[in-house]
Amino acid sequence: MQNLPRVTYSNIGADFTPLHAYLDEAIPAFERDVLGKSWESPFATGAKKKLFSPIDPSLVLGEFPVSTADDVKAAVASARKAAKRWNKASLEERLAFAERWRGVLSEDKYKLGIASLFEVGKSRIEAIGEAEESVDMLTFYPNELKRNDGYRRQMIEMVPNETAISVQRPYGVFAVIAPFNFPVALSIGMITGALITGNAVVYKPSPECALTGLFIAETLKKAGLPDGVFNVVLGGADVGEALTKDPGIDGVAFTGSHKTGMSIFRHMTTLPYMRPVLAEMGGKNPAYVTKNADIVRAAQGVVRSAFGLQGQKCSACSVVYVDNAVKEQFIEAFKEFASKLVVGDPRRKDVFMGPVYNDAAAARFTAAVEQARAEGKIHFGGEKVEGLNGNYFVGALAEMFAPSNLTKEELFVPFVVLRGFDRLEDAIAEGNDVNYGLSAGIFSQDQAEIDYFLENAEAGVLYANRASGATTGAWPGGQPFCGWKGTGLTGKGGLGTWYLPQFMREQSHTIM
Ligand code: GLU
Repeated sequence: MQNLPRVTYSNIGADFTPLHAYLDEAIPAFERDVLGKSWESPFATGAKKKLFSPIDPSLVLGEFPVSTADDVKAAVASARKAAKRWNKASLEERLAFAERWRGVLSEDKYKLGIASLFEVGKSRIEAIGEAEESVDMLTFYPNELKRNDGYRRQMIEMVPNETAISVQRPYGVFAVIAPFNFPVALSIGMITGALITGNAVVYKPSPECALTGLFIAETLKKAGLPDGVFNVVLGGADVGEALTKDPGIDGVAFTGSHKTGMSIFRHMTTLPYMRPVLAEMGGKNPAYVTKNADIVRAAQGVVRSAFGLQGQKCSACSVVYVDNAVKEQFIEAFKEFASKLVVGDPRRKDVFMGPVYNDAAAARFTAAVEQARAEGKIHFGGEKVEGLNGNYFVGALAEMFAPSNLTKEELFVPFVVLRGFDRLEDAIAEGNDVNYGLSAGIFSQDQAEIDYFLENAEAGVLYANRASGATTGAWPGGQPFCGWKGTGLTGKGGLGTWYLPQFMREQSHTIM
């Protein structure tokens, strides 16, 4: 099992046959042995709620308790108590814990991945990919902490015999609030950032992602993290609000909607002093296809990026700007590639796209398709896949003849707008004219065009000629995942070197 091929999103050409052979048995076994159980969690004493899989609404993930207001208070109190010691844990102790946790995650990664397949409706490759990514986070982040000596720096000696150093101290207790689309990787990324820098954590998974949330808690227990350093609360927006507003919270790491992220920032400004908020809040990510592009490559990159995980990535490509000189050629190549991709039950190995997450996503998709039919032109997809019990759709390519809500707002569904252009400069200006700034991509064989794009695209994560996903597939240590503008405020993304210092505050020690 250890020697199965790794999925890293960008290694699309790899031979996953042995992995599929393993999953052919492991997925039904998980469904039989793990799904449908009733769960307990120390800080969730409210009524239990049944959660269902988007793969098929008759498939019960399990029954999970919800946290009450008192549970949230108790979880924060537990974290505060444990923080007294963990905040002082040496770098060596924190690194040793990270190493143990990495070991546990390597053992449990397929279980976590399969849980995410059922919980989110991810294809096998997307689901296993995020579990692999989590293990790699536990390689990359601790290495960065070690390589930078805990981000400790020797400072200038101002007078003889006086030494000055800058040290980084944890804030205390971080709230970690995770989204549904990468319930494993995005949770583990934020939790790692907080824990290995010496903070205690109160973690709230997305409301329907209690299964992966509780699995993650189990892995931390197995890794021997001291009691109380990590605490889970379960529930929806009310639980999240109670958590971020609890005076015992010293900082928040959040990935989710722009609306919720901004409300956390607004709340912080009402306190006697601001607490740090590390937020990643969506995207409207453009790709540019110039007349100098390899069109087949461009079409594949855009399809994978727009329809992978049903368009439910913050980084998904949702607008493609295509030079009018190659527009027809691009549309043909897009259709040819997209029509070969299978939409269906993601337990099956040949499936590229599973269902969209819930009825609200289905309604957003249907409304966008209807609007595009009325105001623009659908070149591909948009229809519901019949015969399946769930929200299964063929991803849509919709040409729009003017900027609109469809070119500016995040829809989080497999719907990509096409806009023809004559001048790359104009296309990039329009692509920049959105409230978000997460990722962007270009397809061109012309270095001057690529340079212009790199210089002028207003987003934190830029890709040129990425066939595995025009704007997607950031990896720990490879692509710092940094949101500009409405996507994020901190300006230092996860998966990069500067992520960890944001969980710490600086203190200078000057000693004579
Ligand atoms: N890490 C994923 C990617 O680069 C996206 C994560 C997200 O949706 O926030 O495609």
